[in-house]
Amino acid sequence: MKFSGVVFVGAGPGAADLITVRGAQRLAQAQVVLHDALIDPALRALAPQAEWIDVGKRGFCRSTAQAQISALLVHRARLHQCVVRLKGGDPSVFGRLEEELQALAEAGVSCEVVPGITAAIAAAADTQRPLTRRGSGRSVTLATAMTQSARLEVSSSRADTEVFYMAGRQLGALGRRLQAAGWAGDTPACVVSRAGWPDSLASDHAVQDLAAAACLHAGRPTVVTVGAGARATKGAGQLTLAGMATSPAPLRALPRAPALTT
Ligand code: SAH
Repeated sequence: MKFSGVVFVGAGPGAADLITVRGAQRLAQAQVVLHDALIDPALRALAPQAEWIDVGKRGFCRSTAQAQISALLVHRARLHQCVVRLKGGDPSVFGRLEEELQALAEAGVSCEVVPGITAAIAAAADTQRPLTRRGSGRSVTLATAMTQSARLEVSSSRADTEVFYMAGRQLGALGRRLQAAGWAGDTPACVVSRAGWPDSLASDHAVQDLAAAACLHAGRPTVVTVGAGARATKGAGQLTLAGMATSPAPLRALPRAPALTT
């Protein structure tokens, strides 16, 4: 049965084949797709019939920009039977979904949400480091250290594993805030950028040395996994690059990352 209204679809974190089958089906029904900046252009092949509109914004969203996106969604929902709002990762994780759902509800537009793979999960898959561990990793937090006023804050109530989004530009500050919040300086921290893409990159650090990750991952979407879920799984998916052994942060190339083998 064809859905009528606005469908929020999680595009997943990277390569187009990480979208769900349901998400792909909704794209095939869409007359218009409003998408974020970080989605794979190859996804266009799933909706060649649709008009594609880039509403992506990098860094902190100004409320006016968000209001404009919500207004555009409402406007397009009145013009078309099926509008897809394609969001990177999962729409419910740091995706400003609440504002857009509210605007559509106020306008009386029906909505559906199709989940996607969030960056934390993609990073765990790429590094073969489960977010939960039997015995030592019973809780996971998806967190952002960025506040609305662009200040960096870390909660002092800690989960066994915490995954930080939107901290790529402030890794040194994140390391200091984590220690101030009670994490030991030698707690493992795994930094993964462009998780889910063929050129995904992962590096190992201690919380006290997180600043060292900044130049490795500069300019790339990055998540930082801290605590139990950051520990390497013995013997699994580890490939230390030749010549990197003396690096302060041992760099791990992912098995399917051809860009890193040169
Ligand atoms: N809804 C998205 C998150 C959007 S917030 C999701 O569920 O993944 C944007 C932040 O997500 C980025 O600053 C970065 O921290 C993280 N991110 C998004 N895609 C990523 C990727 N492929 N690899 C690593 N981090 C990513």
